Amino acid sequence: MRSQDYDRLYLSPPHLGRHELNYLHKAVEDNWVAPIGPNLDGFERDICEFTGAGHCVALSSGTAAIHLGLRLLGVGPGDEVLCPSFTFVATANPILYLGARPVFIDSEAETWNICPDRLREALEDLQRQNRRPKALILVHLYGMPCRLHEVLTVAREYGVPVLEDAAEALGSRYQGQPLGTFGDVGVFSFNGNKILTTSGGGALVTNRPDWAEKVRFWATQARDPAPYYQHSELGYNYRLSNLLAGIGRGQMELLPDRVKKRREIYDWYLKHLAVIPGLALGPQEPAGGHSNRWLTCLTLLPAETNITPEQLRLHLETHNIESRPLWKPLHLQPLFSAAPVYGGQVCTTLFEQGLCLPSGSAMSYSDLQRVVTAIQEINPA
Ligand SMILES: *Cc1c(COP(=O)(O)O)cnc(C)c1O
Repeated sequence: MRSQDYDRLYLSPPHLGRHELNYLHKAVEDNWVAPIGPNLDGFERDICEFTGAGHCVALSSGTAAIHLGLRLLGVGPGDEVLCPSFTFVATANPILYLGARPVFIDSEAETWNICPDRLREALEDLQRQNRRPKALILVHLYGMPCRLHEVLTVAREYGVPVLEDAAEALGSRYQGQPLGTFGDVGVFSFNGNKILTTSGGGALVTNRPDWAEKVRFWATQARDPAPYYQHSELGYNYRLSNLLAGIGRGQMELLPDRVKKRREIYDWYLKHLAVIPGLALGPQEPAGGHSNRWLTCLTLLPAETNITPEQLRLHLETHNIESRPLWKPLHLQPLFSAAPVYGGQVCTTLFEQGLCLPSGSAMSYSDLQRVVTAIQEINPA
């Protein structure tokens, strides 16, 4: 097997532009390869400018940003944190890092994100038992804005602070405002498969200067201001390096183009894929939502077609095309088998019926045609 298969169509491979190398060069020339430096400051400034966030701290991963974000919201041992079940495990793992417990909430069928009704049900139920969740995590899966208006209304009513996991949603908007800036804390990821990448990296945004300062402090081993190494709080080695931030600066220049391209890919699939009965593309934009369309996904309704997502995935595999099932809900994961869940059927059905298609911004129209032709082939009609 070749280490890199040039013929293979991947789900969402990294896509570099022209200016990343300039920033890297400059960093090496200037000896700025430490986890501080001008690229890091510049990258954080770029993210603030693009999103309108007051403050940004670049970190080693999105997971690290969620970890520190939950700590900012005061999550600690024994606390409960509300979290959608339909998401990547990295959304919920930091709840466990902090000794807290997740309470999972089902999706709604349009955006596939957290259901405001199930959320209200959970909060009412917990209140009856005098349990007050410490935080709510929102996720904008596949770049799709969740029903922010409805969800934030419920969260405010119950006084629950919000962490917005916008790891997949950089460049998406809701009512014109960039995602990641609706919660008390917002999180982005620059992992290799995301819309922009630094090979690995993340960022936390907040409007509170004291919180940004605290995150910088925790992320660099929590060194007290003293000439020697003194520590009063638990810290981590979570800062992004100035080198990787240089890649990030080059990537940030490309964000509007990348969003445009991923949206075109979705539109193209939409136009050409109405070939299998029961095949639908998703998720759908809520009123006021504008998705970066990080990944285009499809669902296959078993009442209308005999083709299963797994059959389709294996068929695409024979054409050297990568596709992948939608996220397996967290309430079905052995790791979280003891966690409570409100609802659960909507995201379970999505998992059973869905598939993610190649959606990388470097795809050509002949690449897209290759996927569509392969899918058409499996259509018996
Ligand atoms: C990628 C991702 C994360 C984690 O980001 P990393 O940078 O890979 O640690 C968290 N949540 C969601 C929804 C993600 O897709």
